[in-house]
Amino acid sequence: MPRLFFALWPDDLTRSRFAAAVESLPKMPGRPVPVRNLHVTLVFLGGVNAEQQQVLQQGADGIHAPSFSLTISQLGCWPHAAVAWLAPGVVPPALVDLVTQLQSVCRNAGLEPDTRPYHPHLTIARKIRRVAPANIDPIFWQISRFSLIKSVSDRAGSEYHPLVHWPLFSSSNMG
Ligand code: ATP
Ligand code: MG
Repeated sequence: MPRLFFALWPDDLTRSRFAAAVESLPKMPGRPVPVRNLHVTLVFLGGVNAEQQQVLQQGADGIHAPSFSLTISQLGCWPHAAVAWLAPGVVPPALVDLVTQLQSVCRNAGLEPDTRPYHPHLTIARKIRRVAPANIDPIFWQISRFSLIKSVSDRAGSEYHPLVHWPLFSSSNMG
């Protein structure tokens, strides 16, 4: 069964900005996440069968949510998870609403979403337990879509394949 998750998948320009930000950090221990893999997980689904995937996609088709922006400005680390991350300083309510809607889509497909408090982040390195928290030069990211991603792991690491992107509506189109 494919292993899937909903994510914010950066456009190429934003991805190149994240790459430059990571490049400019002091050299860190651990295993860096390849630039092509940088993303923000919205809801992790895990192994999903064909019927569940159809329910998930139909549920996502029905989401009507506004676009929003994220300003990525923080560097930090979770020692228990052994990951270093970049994160927004402020979590917009529109992001929390989107995650809540996707969790409900996930439950409708018979999957149990992660119920821990949601902390949006881009994992930039693994197997790392200590990073000095810092502010980075803010990176502005206009979020105008959310995506369903397939994760394929082997000994060399994970590859992510975007399967579907769904648009978020821009407030200028609200009529
Ligand atoms: P690997 O597990 O092969 O080391 P990975 O963690 O990058 O690689 P996945 O486990 O498929 O790949 O995870 C995809 C995304 O979902 C990552 O952002 C990961 O942090 C997140 N994720 C994975 N498992 C969970 C979980 N149980 N709860 C919340 N998010 C998760
Ligand atoms: Mg994992």
